[in-house]
Amino acid sequence: MPKRATKRGAERTPLSRDADVLICGGSFAGLAIARELAGSGARVLMIDRYEVGERQTSACGIPTDWLRNLGLMGAHQQTFPELTLHTPHTTVRYDLPWTFSTFDYRTLCGLLDEQGDADFEIAKIDGRTGNTVHTDRGDLTAPLIVDALGWRRILGSGENVQPPDALLSRGLEVHPQGSGDELEIWIDRSYVPAGYGWSFPAGEELRVGVGSFDPRFHVKEPTVRLAEDLKADPVRFQGNWIPHALRPATDDGVFFAGDSAGHCLPLTAEGIRTALYFGLACGRELRDVVEGRRTREEALARYHAFSAGHRFAFDSLLKLQRLVPRIHPRALAPGLRAMGVKRFVDWSFGHYLQIAHPSYALGGPHGSRDLARGDLASAIATA
Ligand SMILES: Cc1cc2nc3c(=O)[nH]c(=O)nc-3n(C[C@H](O)[C@H](O)[C@H](O)COP(=O)(O)OP(=O)(O)OC[C@H]3O[C@@H](n4cnc5c(N)ncnc54)[C@H](O)[C@@H]3O)c2cc1C
Repeated sequence: MPKRATKRGAERTPLSRDADVLICGGSFAGLAIARELAGSGARVLMIDRYEVGERQTSACGIPTDWLRNLGLMGAHQQTFPELTLHTPHTTVRYDLPWTFSTFDYRTLCGLLDEQGDADFEIAKIDGRTGNTVHTDRGDLTAPLIVDALGWRRILGSGENVQPPDALLSRGLEVHPQGSGDELEIWIDRSYVPAGYGWSFPAGEELRVGVGSFDPRFHVKEPTVRLAEDLKADPVRFQGNWIPHALRPATDDGVFFAGDSAGHCLPLTAEGIRTALYFGLACGRELRDVVEGRRTREEALARYHAFSAGHRFAFDSLLKLQRLVPRIHPRALAPGLRAMGVKRFVDWSFGHYLQIAHPSYALGGPHGSRDLARGDLASAIATA
């Protein structure tokens, strides 16, 4: 087990702080929220159980324009203009209308953190009562609280549904040394009955993994097998649960962003750009509150509507996620070939990117244009 950078023993002194905004979780969603609050004058406190950038939980693939528009190209590793899909009966290559890139998690988190000015403390968050968040270093109270803690949705009210009953997928990958120039996906029942395998090259390492849409299906053995089939060492494991259903983005006065709100896209399990996107949206609403343009209740209602406005896209992808595994492998091959027609690829991947478009990153307090309000309305309209 790797030793994570965190505070241990005597370093875990009691934490007693007041904050205007308490951001719980310091990964993609939490850091994006903090970025949007920079310079607002609000006392923003971010809490995570580890140092920022310490615990990578993904293959770190994202549409390149998200990196570019957020000023995060310093974390960039490799860019892919094509997507390669393997099934037992065919291999197809889709020429994408936009590129996809891999990045270094620690570097990206560091760069994003520099764009914000939140105070940061390490603590394990255990739960919440009203406006008070309970941590292993004491209780923290704030009028504005965000849960960016990932799939567990720790600050939600009521019973928290746990796997395997929750609408969660399972993902596991290994990070062997190696190189490649193709972004590859396997839709192959011999690896996983419902789900897919992947290999994402990232500089000097490959990120090879298997995700199962059925949480009862264990993915360690197929992950090892896929790595071995690619002549890569099954080393440096990392995995997590991945939500595949949208959940309410506000609850009992708390804002939820990223995996805690089910913002990871079904079918593809792409959850980084959406965590950034909804994080930015949440941060812009919170900024309006701390700068006196809106009440907390108005911001809660607006952010809730913004997230729910994407339900059609999320539900459509969930239907596809349920449909694809039912297609017979022999029918899948000609289907994927037919869908490889350039016009269809441009149309479908264009719509897919639209769900959380990189232009959204150009708005808000960091942007050259103040798109925050206009974007919110147009994003709801187009979702
Ligand atoms: C194997 C795998 C590969 C993936 N690959 C990709 C990919 O290539 N591209 C993509 O777009 N998506 C990918 N995803 C999905 C993506 O990782 C998630 O959707 C994304 O990380 C969600 O970001 P988040 O900020 O909401 O939550 P997280 O990244 O899960 O961050 C939650 C933060 O909260 C902290 N935290 C959690 N519990 C506590 C606690 N009790 N107390 C204090 N702190 C706590 C954690 O330390 C962490 O920093 C992958 C997922 C998996 C499992």
